[in-house]
Amino acid sequence: MTVLEIRNLRTQFHTDEGPVLAVDGVSLELSAGETLGLVGESGSGKSVTALSIMGLVARPAGEIVDGEVWVDGISVLGKGNDAMRKIRGKTVAMIFQDPMTSLNPLFTVGWQITEALRLHLGFTKAAAKKRAIDLLDRVGIPAPETRVASYPHQFSGGMRQRVMIAMALSCEPKVLLADEPTTALDVTVQAQLLQLLKDIADVSQTATLLITHDL
Ligand code: ADP
Ligand code: MG
Repeated sequence: MTVLEIRNLRTQFHTDEGPVLAVDGVSLELSAGETLGLVGESGSGKSVTALSIMGLVARPAGEIVDGEVWVDGISVLGKGNDAMRKIRGKTVAMIFQDPMTSLNPLFTVGWQITEALRLHLGFTKAAAKKRAIDLLDRVGIPAPETRVASYPHQFSGGMRQRVMIAMALSCEPKVLLADEPTTALDVTVQAQLLQLLKDIADVSQTATLLITHDL
């Protein structure tokens, strides 16, 4: 079953030097359980493609000028912020390149992993904590019962990226956009994380768009 379909996506930025067409006619299809690699050199529009799917292209500088994006049967382009907030996390989630800018240093990882669960699905604090421990366990964090109360700076880079994956999985999204999820990490840790993403795609049938500049 196709859970992500992009047709002729075109996204543009208005800059001082005039318009920049960052994404120029991208089309792709992704089925449940499938992993698709999106590869291109730096600046080729990979991240903007993912941000366009998420409805996170910042207006007014950025603008989707053409195309269609369907996520789990929902046409997302042109949806308002409130509607996108319900789709983000629950239907399509994104793992960003740099966990240090995406994780808030002031909150425990458990709190951050379950923010979406408390906000969208009305989990109580106790239920959210239990679910955070399950998620940390699932992404291979040792001693998740104690680590759930740790802060991001208490984790290594690889472990922080595992936390980001746990956060992205918290609402069991149909589609996972992994934007250079291993770029900042050493080769052994990269291999472990890619295996983890593969296991998740296999077990949960999560459709995964794996973005990288590294062939
Ligand atoms: P990639 O992820 O493939 O390295 P990006 O998708 O981040 O590339 O960027 C694609 C192009 O869009 C680049 O030329 C970049 O400079 C431009 N771009 C991205 N974000 C913005 C922005 N907020 N304002 C202006 N130009 C941008
Ligand atoms: Mg990028």
